[in-house]
Amino acid sequence: TFTLGPKIDNWDQERQNWLSQNPEYPNSIRGKPRILLLTGSPPKPCDNPIGDHYLLKSIKNKIDYCRLHGIEIVYNLAHLDVELAGYWAKLPMIRRLMLSHPEVEWIWWMDSDAFFTDMVFELPMPKYDAYNLVLHGYPDLLFDQKSWIAVNTGSFLFRNCQWSLDLLDDWAPMGPKGPVREEAGKILTANLKGRPAFEADDQSALIYLLLSKKEKWMDKVFLENSFYLHGYWAGLVDRYEEMIEKYHPGLGDERWPFVTHFVGCKPCGSYGDYPVERCLSSMERAYNFADNQVLKLYGFRHRGLLSPKIKRIRNETVTPLEFVDQFDIRRHSTESK
Ligand code: UDP
Ligand code: MN
Repeated sequence: TFTLGPKIDNWDQERQNWLSQNPEYPNSIRGKPRILLLTGSPPKPCDNPIGDHYLLKSIKNKIDYCRLHGIEIVYNLAHLDVELAGYWAKLPMIRRLMLSHPEVEWIWWMDSDAFFTDMVFELPMPKYDAYNLVLHGYPDLLFDQKSWIAVNTGSFLFRNCQWSLDLLDDWAPMGPKGPVREEAGKILTANLKGRPAFEADDQSALIYLLLSKKEKWMDKVFLENSFYLHGYWAGLVDRYEEMIEKYHPGLGDERWPFVTHFVGCKPCGSYGDYPVERCLSSMERAYNFADNQVLKLYGFRHRGLLSPKIKRIRNETVTPLEFVDQFDIRRHSTESK
């Protein structure tokens, strides 16, 4: 059967030894666990050329968030395992990064079609101390309804530990493309509510795994829904103006969504569930909504949520240091907690 690599069974101890031998690479920085954000896109250009421009906006958006919050970032453009092409490509890459970066405590996967839309909000990491996997999701949708959208695998966190390596091993076998993935898709569609007939995808496979082996895995899985670790775009992008009027960044929930994820849009590919024009203009709005929060630090903002043009919002000053703290997101996000 398919494996992600040689079976590793002593990772927690090995990693602990490595950490104590390499004190210059601690797994926490200023009291916060070291986080590595991983994202990526297919090795080839998009079918729809404009898609590449949105991939650029998407990585720019992630670089901004990560820089502001002291998170490292990796962009993967390769298929580490040819069998796990497409949405399954994240699995071998997550495993590889855990093993190559023992100093990293959490790997945060984020899809290329997910944008940070709250540049101030920070993950409540202490809440996850006793957990190894953090997913956006709802327990009733998962265990009562067995819905194929009960959790979302567009933005989630894995702790670098043996448990996670084991879960990846248990998750991967439905992934190999071709007959294995096709047959597995039938099992998933038969068992998950609302799932259309198609080959096995990583999200459905994870849901099926958590349902069928609840006792084994759920103890260490945190289902987060108090803020949008993943937020479905359709209900959010038309409300940005209202949010700007009523609220402020830093909330992360429906008032000011942390992440806006363009589920069902395929601007890079040739088909999706929504008209590509609607997807692209909505992505443009999400990107500019977020970018305004970044530009504000430097004294600018976009002319409108659909405009790439920007305008000045403050006058230049000869004494910039008088105001530097006031506009520094890093201070606001730590002080508000
Ligand atoms: N992805 C990748 N390599 C691929 C295909 C997909 O890295 O060859 C990543 C990309 O970040 C994408 C995510 O996997 O957003 C999920 O894949 P999916 O096909 O579901 O695309 P989406 O609908 O999220 O754009
Ligand atoms: Mn996605």
